[in-house]
Amino acid sequence: MVITMKVGHTKEQVDAVVRLVQARGYTAHIMPGVAMAVCITGNAGRVDPRPFMLLEGVAEAVPVTKPYKLPSRDVQAADTVIDIATPSGRTIGIGRKGFMPVIAGPCSVESEDQLMRIAKVVKDAGAHLLRGGAFKPRSSAFAFQGMGEDGLKILAAARETFDLPVVTEALDQHTAELVARYTDVIQIGARNMQNYALLRDVGKLNKPVMLKRGMSATLEEWLQAAEYIMAEGNAKVMLCERGIRTFATHTRNTLDLNVVPVVQRLSHLPILVDPSHGTGIRNMVAPLARAAAALPCHGQMIEVHDRPDEALSDGPQSLLPEQFSQLMTELDAIGKALGFRVRDAA
Ligand code: PEP
Ligand code: MN
Repeated sequence: MVITMKVGHTKEQVDAVVRLVQARGYTAHIMPGVAMAVCITGNAGRVDPRPFMLLEGVAEAVPVTKPYKLPSRDVQAADTVIDIATPSGRTIGIGRKGFMPVIAGPCSVESEDQLMRIAKVVKDAGAHLLRGGAFKPRSSAFAFQGMGEDGLKILAAARETFDLPVVTEALDQHTAELVARYTDVIQIGARNMQNYALLRDVGKLNKPVMLKRGMSATLEEWLQAAEYIMAEGNAKVMLCERGIRTFATHTRNTLDLNVVPVVQRLSHLPILVDPSHGTGIRNMVAPLARAAAALPCHGQMIEVHDRPDEALSDGPQSLLPEQFSQLMTELDAIGKALGFRVRDAA
């Protein structure tokens, strides 16, 4: 159930609603959107709205029929904007209207030299955040598993040198806190979208989370996974469509661009698109990135490598530096036509 407050409500009136929710054994989540709302979770069955309607300052008490609540527009009408500060203090607002940030970098951190080279390339091309995996979820047990904490330290150095906030993956519960110490955004990978223990853990950390869609997850399952994070008190969740498994074998995955406008209708969370994993093929990344920009989505994640033939993971889908730079110019042009900025964060 969602309880919306009247215009001009007082803090004491909201406190009274929260007290009644708690007295009934449920959990109250305050959603400070345009219209203040209190969302109730923890109820097994229907909650009787009448006692809430009798409280001062309450406008409406509406049952929510969807299997998720906190990510839903029913609970918060206004878009969530996640502000990420760069080391120099600039703010990058993910989900902010009129702006489409780009996260770019190699699939994996392979060495300090490699990450510094590529960070410079993506910074010069106008990327807003730097990506790179230090803990890698690989399909093969014998493939490169990432540099671990050494990789995180390299990311931290690149973050300072290039004034780029960092996005990197937390692979398991044991290392989530360690990852959170170094990164600006914790990535939860497709293979972990339903790792509920990990979702709860990152929900307890005060760090933005990028939740990638599981490769066979429905939209409902994906939003329910987001709710696991939010239910622990972390509202800074962004979604990332990265392609799903279908019967089609002509690309690594099928990038489900259809899901973006549906997410935007149902949820207030920012939705990004990853055309690198979504296609798996270098020469398809830019066309799909342009298509995603035209939706438009709230941001993109793109893999870039200057020596893709030597890359320890995902070389075949990584853009070369000049291709990335060209793509940024094209995304900027699409933004100019559709009314959003790409290259500058201000
Ligand atoms: C990645 O971003 O490198 C990655 C492993 O992504 P996904 O979890 O979407 O496969
Ligand atoms: Mn990758």
